Amino acid sequence: MATLKKNDVIQVDIDGMTAEGSGVAHYEGMAVFIPNAAPGDTAEVIIIKTSKNYAVGRIKRIIKAGKGRCEPDCPSYPKCGGCTFRHLEYPEECRVKRQRVNDAMKRIGGVEIEAEEFIPADEPDRYRNKAQIPFGSEKGQAVFGFYAERSHRIIPFTDCLLQPEIFSVIAQATAHFLNDTSNDLYDEMTGRGRFRHLYIRRAFATGEVMVCAVVNANGLVREEEFVRRIRAVSPEIKSIVINVNREKTNVIMGNKCRTAWGSETIRDMLCGVTFEISPLSFYQVNRAQAERLYQKAAEYAGLDGRQVLFDLYCGTGTIGLTMASKARALYGVEIIPDAVDNAVRNAALNGITNAHFVCGDAHDKAQKLKEQGIQPDVVIVDPPRKGCSEATVEFLDKTSPEKIIYISCDPATLARDVARLKTSGWQLIKFTVVDMFPRTANVETVALLSHK
Ligand code: SAH
Repeated sequence: MATLKKNDVIQVDIDGMTAEGSGVAHYEGMAVFIPNAAPGDTAEVIIIKTSKNYAVGRIKRIIKAGKGRCEPDCPSYPKCGGCTFRHLEYPEECRVKRQRVNDAMKRIGGVEIEAEEFIPADEPDRYRNKAQIPFGSEKGQAVFGFYAERSHRIIPFTDCLLQPEIFSVIAQATAHFLNDTSNDLYDEMTGRGRFRHLYIRRAFATGEVMVCAVVNANGLVREEEFVRRIRAVSPEIKSIVINVNREKTNVIMGNKCRTAWGSETIRDMLCGVTFEISPLSFYQVNRAQAERLYQKAAEYAGLDGRQVLFDLYCGTGTIGLTMASKARALYGVEIIPDAVDNAVRNAALNGITNAHFVCGDAHDKAQKLKEQGIQPDVVIVDPPRKGCSEATVEFLDKTSPEKIIYISCDPATLARDVARLKTSGWQLIKFTVVDMFPRTANVETVALLSHK
């Protein structure tokens, strides 16, 4: 194995990618991880870190560019850290992501089949419907931007290509307002100063925008002027909210929200169902791709009105509610009480009467439902990154629904859970990869499992 040291300069070929989107090269038997490298690159690399089994390098010079490499179209890339793949053409990014899921399924899941489909985004830019923009002060002026890597120093930007253009206009108007009034800027070190973050959400189906000022106080100085200026940006702005966060913490949002102007919520639609979005509620970040993911999940579920559907880890109930009209009954389980409240309200808003939501641990509550004699025909699971708990996997196995639809944001834990289910006779029928977060390394997979 190579004995690489810090500051060594070597020439390597990039022959793979990590889950986080770094390039991988092999140098005399040692793996070298290189951020912002593209598959097929030949590059001169300076070693910045070494350990027993691997090294980390930084590109000094590209000798030959991989065929999917392109010139990044954002001046903040890669400093900002928000995007991982802006140096790749979009089709190449899609190829890398598809490969990553196929590899995990094969290596960890012991699966023979490959993804039946990869669903790219029509719009790989400006898809985010939510942004949390930090504000600070520089030479006495309000600035907004992103945090420099591993620090809370604000690097200003004028635009972000992942966000709708209106977000930058609102941020600019807010900066002007702060400079023209005596609202001071929050300082993370001292915990003093008023204005912390600007939090913006846009419902793409209706165009409605919510603007939320996160403040270390009960409100803004000259709040009515803030409202006036923000409203003047666009008639799409329907809600202006003050969020109070007086804690000395790097958690962005406080618990208390007050509507300064307009409605308390904005409304969006997913697969024909209306959802109310309040400032603190969870909502899918990329609406267009969430719809495609849910459509694929519905196709795999194949409901015809007779089935009992469980939606475990249901969040605000979006997936289940978009399928409720094709199910006999829907039972959603979610651990966050506010999300469950939202789910109940969303069901009522749409006149859906066959949906029931329970707050608690997925396995625990699903088991209780079963003890009440409710047998699911189809179970959807959409767990966080760490995947299903062992108890949930056991529940799935013992309960034996006809189908399991597993939605996952981490191919490695999905593959692990598929392997667990396979040992007790479940079979992975097919899976699809959906690009929910273009330009970042995240990828979503939906899988259909059934008995042999
Ligand atoms: N299905 C939803 C959200 C999925 S995100 C959607 O498509 O919008 C995963 C969800 O699992 C989160 O809402 C999280 O709060 C919830 N969760 C995490 N651990 C859980 C547990 N042990 N039991 C039930 N829900 C849990």
